[in-house]
Amino acid sequence: MRICFFNDQRLGLVDNNQVRDISEILKEFPAHAYPYPRHDLLIAALPELHDKITALAATAPAIALDQVTLLSPVQNPGKIVAAPVNYQKHLEEAIEDTATFSRAHVRKIQETGLFLKATHSLVGASEGIELQLLERRTDHEIELAVIIGKTCRNVDYEDALAQVAGYCIGLDITIRGPEERSLRKSLDTYTVLGPWLVTADELSDPSQLEMTLLVNDEQRQHANTRDLILDVADLIVFASKFYTLEPGDILLTGTPEGVAPIHPGDKLCASIDKIGTMDVEVKPIVS
Ligand code: MN
Repeated sequence: MRICFFNDQRLGLVDNNQVRDISEILKEFPAHAYPYPRHDLLIAALPELHDKITALAATAPAIALDQVTLLSPVQNPGKIVAAPVNYQKHLEEAIEDTATFSRAHVRKIQETGLFLKATHSLVGASEGIELQLLERRTDHEIELAVIIGKTCRNVDYEDALAQVAGYCIGLDITIRGPEERSLRKSLDTYTVLGPWLVTADELSDPSQLEMTLLVNDEQRQHANTRDLILDVADLIVFASKFYTLEPGDILLTGTPEGVAPIHPGDKLCASIDKIGTMDVEVKPIVS
């Protein structure tokens, strides 16, 4: 299944070039009293809702995909866990360019570990990126995003992919400089997730996915997840040693080589095999 959120937080099932409005499903969720659950209830319930979603979608109104505003396909993640330099060629480009990449941040992932991005940075493809601190260099980073489906901790490698609800394209927008990653990568709109979530039953092997990022139709990043230093299962093992992972948690797996600056008005086009393509605008400056 391909699940999306669109327009005014409508829930959709993507069906070729159309979206079936299945917002009715959201009525399945009981009203909650404070304190609210920290994880994403819809992601947690996806496997049991599968048949209901399919049945509802069969008669649901269809809207052309290019007519909807795509929001983040995960609306209530508890945390965004991200991998720093996790492709060898990106490590090499970072080592070579000492002016851009602070020495403190260029080490092997096994030594650096992982970092967290604030959930308030999250937007969907149609919402766009609003650059701030325009005097600073700010880069695009395309990444395979893994959405956790189950509560888990200390996961074994062979069980890791069974914890996954699905996959999305992620953009980890990053200010370069000496500060902590969590500061430079957590500005509003600096995590783009989309265009929809492809459930893990449809994408069972994330280990050979081609990815491409174009900026204004010019290719900037092109790589394959087979070149990840720590693959998706490794990252779940690693992250779950430190954190309890919960349904809806987003795991950004790291970006390949080719990172470069973006500017107001740029048009990004990000594609990953078996997921799809998303167009994301860097919003122009409003004067
Ligand atoms: Mn990144």
